[in-house]
Amino acid sequence: RFGRADGLAVKLHLARRQPVIHALDGIDLTIPTGEFVGLVGESGSGKSTLGRIAAGLLPPSSGTVEVFGRSPQGDRSVHRDVQLIFQDPQASLNPRMRVAEAIGEAPLVHGIASRSEIDEYVCAQMRRAGLDPAYRQRFPHQFSGGQRQRISIARALALQPRFLVCDESVASLDVSIQAQILNLFMELRRDLDLTYLFISHDLRVVQHIADRVVIMYLGRIVEDAPAARFFAHPNHPYTQGLLAEIPDLKQRRRVYAPVKGEIPSPAAPPPGCHFHPRCPSAFDRCRVERPALREIVPGHRSACHLNDVAAAPARAQTGEIA
Ligand code: SF4
Ligand code: MG
Repeated sequence: RFGRADGLAVKLHLARRQPVIHALDGIDLTIPTGEFVGLVGESGSGKSTLGRIAAGLLPPSSGTVEVFGRSPQGDRSVHRDVQLIFQDPQASLNPRMRVAEAIGEAPLVHGIASRSEIDEYVCAQMRRAGLDPAYRQRFPHQFSGGQRQRISIARALALQPRFLVCDESVASLDVSIQAQILNLFMELRRDLDLTYLFISHDLRVVQHIADRVVIMYLGRIVEDAPAARFFAHPNHPYTQGLLAEIPDLKQRRRVYAPVKGEIPSPAAPPPGCHFHPRCPSAFDRCRVERPALREIVPGHRSACHLNDVAAAPARAQTGEIA
């Protein structure tokens, strides 16, 4: 009855208005088991809130959430299947707790490993996360930032999750260390068959690892596409603006204009299309009517009135420079 029956790790449907969670406004998202989804948006886009709802940590004020076919609110067993990995391992690791205890505590409590097994179990998690188990009696401050993030990862893996929600998990690391941690996530995915919701403010971080990219703007999903399609044929003017800021994509034939201006306050988003004050292609309809998130080709969704060919001005007027 549970698990992979429908092949979905996450199925999320949130109502248009979230009376309590102002950050989100109408979200439909499904994540097939085993998929690596990159969820990208500026701060204030609601991506962390969405991550917490998808992890079952935060109930939506209206709508439904299913994680591996179960409701996190109705069935506590869901929580064992999901682990979150945050930006700052410094804040999530107890400075007075030795690494062996930090990693081994929860598996002991949950009966995943017994007292006699726990030491070997901790060593195995450390090896999996690329850490030398010889250092397991050390404290977090005796490790580098990248190693501390590996400790958080080992601790998460110790609970044998099937779904990882990573919220800016490499954002505080140097670029070379970022690449190492991203490689680790890829390895784990291959070896453990994990599903990922990988949240980042930076498209470059997900560029080489995501199967699918989802873009959020002021509480709404504005574009969602398989990664190859996303980078080759971005549809939404906001996405095109974000891509303009990635240097290695600048060689491409099409060049887009970067996004101008600041993101408005999520507490008072602009009417119609939330993006209209910053959009180089905005027209009258955008100021009054919310564009629906619609499939433009199978698997590729975008929320922009320009896709409504009958009612929109010609695409040539968009931010694209041929
Ligand atoms: Fe721009 Fe209008 Fe499309 Fe919004 S709906 S992204 S304002 S063209
Ligand atoms: Mg955040």
